[in-house]
Amino acid sequence: MKEQDPRLGSLLEDLEEPAQPDPSRLESEVPKSSVRLDPRRCVGCAACMRVCPTEAIRIRKGKAIIKPQLCIDCGECVRVCEHKAGVVLSDPISAIQRFEYRIAVPEASLYGQFIPAVLPNDILAGILDLGFHEVFEAALATERASLLLREYMDRYHGPKPLMTSFCPVVLRLIQLRFPDLADLVVPIDSTLELAVKKLKEERSKQKGIPVEKIGAFYLAGCPARITTIHHPYTGAKTHLDGAISVGEIYKDLMFAIRKRQRAGQKPPQLHGSSALGMRWGTLWGEVEALGLENAIAVSDMKHLVRIMEEIDNHTLTDIEFVECRACYAGCAGGPLMVDNPYRGRSKIQRLCRMFPELSNTEETWARENFERFGSHFDRRMKPLSLEGLDPDPSKAIEKMAQKSKILESLPGIDCGSCGAPNCKALADDIVRGEATIMYCIFKLRDAFLRQKRKKRKSPSSPKRSRAPQQKSQLC
Ligand code: SF4
Ligand code: SF4
Repeated sequence: MKEQDPRLGSLLEDLEEPAQPDPSRLESEVPKSSVRLDPRRCVGCAACMRVCPTEAIRIRKGKAIIKPQLCIDCGECVRVCEHKAGVVLSDPISAIQRFEYRIAVPEASLYGQFIPAVLPNDILAGILDLGFHEVFEAALATERASLLLREYMDRYHGPKPLMTSFCPVVLRLIQLRFPDLADLVVPIDSTLELAVKKLKEERSKQKGIPVEKIGAFYLAGCPARITTIHHPYTGAKTHLDGAISVGEIYKDLMFAIRKRQRAGQKPPQLHGSSALGMRWGTLWGEVEALGLENAIAVSDMKHLVRIMEEIDNHTLTDIEFVECRACYAGCAGGPLMVDNPYRGRSKIQRLCRMFPELSNTEETWARENFERFGSHFDRRMKPLSLEGLDPDPSKAIEKMAQKSKILESLPGIDCGSCGAPNCKALADDIVRGEATIMYCIFKLRDAFLRQKRKKRKSPSSPKRSRAPQQKSQLC
């Protein structure tokens, strides 16, 4: 028998108490998001509105605004905005000072953001220099998730293809647009939470510091991860105390690494995750970790939506497993990462070849712990209806009929001049009382011409008629 991982093995032993949903969070129908569009920088060009996969953006009075209930934190609007109006709300590094003992939780994709000569140990030592007392690699938890997933796939005999719950954007997309696919999501997503909880308890005992004074901060490459920590989608309690954007610390981290290298300081041995865990930082990582042949990996929102439609239409039932990531090349291409996604991915793949496949982890661990872990599987993913026009079902049906009528009367060319991404979205806004039919420039023109004709016919009308008081939302 191989030696058990001294850290993670013990961290995941205590599985009796599953994370409980916080009722106040579950009550809230409006999910939070970490993405904002700064009106001072926004020029109303509508580039973000056109790329948003959930039609969450509107242009009002020449500025882009986000409808928070539709935002899935994909970060596409942040990426596409040339005026840097996209902002991601993450914790500042100073937030760690609230805690007496500070743990950083870097994700594996961070290892792909530096030149090849900078190895995980250098990066982890650099993170300590930013003011943390300890680093806990998220890859140690994904390593365990891989083992559990393999076991789950072996035991599963239901409908296919299965999908994983790793990318929070994918989960939100399923909740909003493909609620029928929720049961195909493999419910293994709490390994990191459990590990962090146990680590904090252990450090509390060892150092004599109350658990509340021990802070764990995730170093995130995407807004969706930040949101899962600030406002967990499932309503479950998180043991992470904050999320810091990789973009925010990158410069200082780079500086700390260089400083150590220039001083000839050898970093301490901090890196312990295997290739199995690190692989999750890039696209195809899960499929490779699972060793599946009849599986596909999909990234990029457009492709993702198309594949989900196919799964929804039961045309992909011959595939066993679909790895879904919102970002190009997987998490290495997260909107808050600094390097380009392809180079990031290639660097992680190189590291995976350098490090052992399964470090200090027992192959039999998943089999032995599966039943106990099963009680933690989170199936609370709650479908959210895009069509929720009214909480009262009879009024909602009435509004649906109104919406169809309005939609029929609109030109149907989806020009976007009304400040909504398409005519259907404008009809929805009108029924909700968030827009009027005059937002449509064609309707506005018709109204103007009608008024003009009417005034011409009237003998007492002044020679010049005035246009209705409405401007295009893009002005
Ligand atoms: S983050 Fe994504 S879903 Fe949210 S507003 Fe931006 S593009 Fe739309
Ligand atoms: S692919 Fe990774 S980085 Fe991108 S949104 Fe999903 S979890 Fe975040």
